[in-house]
Amino acid sequence: SLFGLPDQAPHERVLLAADAETGLKAILAVHSTARGPAFGGCRFWTYDNELAALNDALRLSQGMSLKNALADLPFGGGKAVIIKPAGQFDRPALFAAFGRAVQSLDGAYITAEDVGTTTADMLGMQAQTQYVSGIPRAGAFGGDPSPKTAWGVFVSIEAGVKLHLKRSSLEGVRVAIQGLGAVGWHLAEFLHKAGAKLVVTDVDAAKIARAQQLLGAQAVGIDEILSADVDVLAPCALGAALNSVSVPQIRAQLIAGAANNQLATAADGDALQQRGICYLPDYLVNAGGIISVAREYRNEGEESAVMAEVSRIGERVAELLERVKLENSTPGRVADAWARAKLVKPV
Ligand code: NAD
Repeated sequence: SLFGLPDQAPHERVLLAADAETGLKAILAVHSTARGPAFGGCRFWTYDNELAALNDALRLSQGMSLKNALADLPFGGGKAVIIKPAGQFDRPALFAAFGRAVQSLDGAYITAEDVGTTTADMLGMQAQTQYVSGIPRAGAFGGDPSPKTAWGVFVSIEAGVKLHLKRSSLEGVRVAIQGLGAVGWHLAEFLHKAGAKLVVTDVDAAKIARAQQLLGAQAVGIDEILSADVDVLAPCALGAALNSVSVPQIRAQLIAGAANNQLATAADGDALQQRGICYLPDYLVNAGGIISVAREYRNEGEESAVMAEVSRIGERVAELLERVKLENSTPGRVADAWARAKLVKPV
């Protein structure tokens, strides 16, 4: 549907923004403002076609509603997608045009970084809109949210290892990381420090070599990572890694990663559960970044307070697994219902 996925509430507003001069073609999707202004990053990506971009924007913004609700943030869910122009383009001018589109929504949507966008893009947009976050500030926390996202994934893995794998620490636990980008790399460092054994892959050979050298990681091919012989799988590249082809091959007992929309369909979550694999829903696990940019936007607290709030994701994982047992359901379905019940204005 043009309004979003059929099993979710429809989008409140979707703006198609184009600018002939800069080549901007963007989709700004406001899924829900029930909890407050829709907050979610901006993806800058090459798509096969415009409908694929729309689909991505709609899926991602619905995910943000659930993510922001579960993280108890006073924000709704939204997301933007800029279709990367083919050929030459003036990046600052393109993002300035995007900033004007954000401003035109009068605060219904607040943007920040996502895949393909940088702190420099956000900084450049400040002249066009105040509805932007993820900008480094002198003497205060803020900017690149990916280390906070990685910390949230790390505490989720810690909780899952304890509660599902029944192991007291990460020492010797084997973790496969798909994608060593902004989040994947920080996650790899946290895990290495905690004594985990890493198995990694990326499309970029230089990132793999760095992980081998600095973190003693074992490298595998892109097609081998999902079926690697590990305890934990952390998808940290793009969406739909967990699908009808990969799920039967997964050997990990726990899945927790940064990538948005990891499950191709809800049925893939059921299939994981049937195989005894515990999948921690992406939007619960990867909320560290939005917690950081949301606090930055509201100019609230210090670095230590952000980290404490991100660490609470580990407690939510424990609560989720408790609810899953009580309700005899899957983590994905329980988290969905839990988040949807919170899609109302916080008191
Ligand atoms: P990134 O672009 O920095 O990293 C992605 C990495 O994955 C890159 O190194 C890329 O080369 C690699 N990659 C791409 N396709 C691959 C494949 N098929 N196999 C293996 N590696 C592949 O992005 P990021 O900011 O690290 O985000 C990663 C994921 O986490 C995305 O899905 C993003 O939406 C999600 N996420 C990020 C944040 C954040 O704070 N950055 C927050 C929440 C969710």
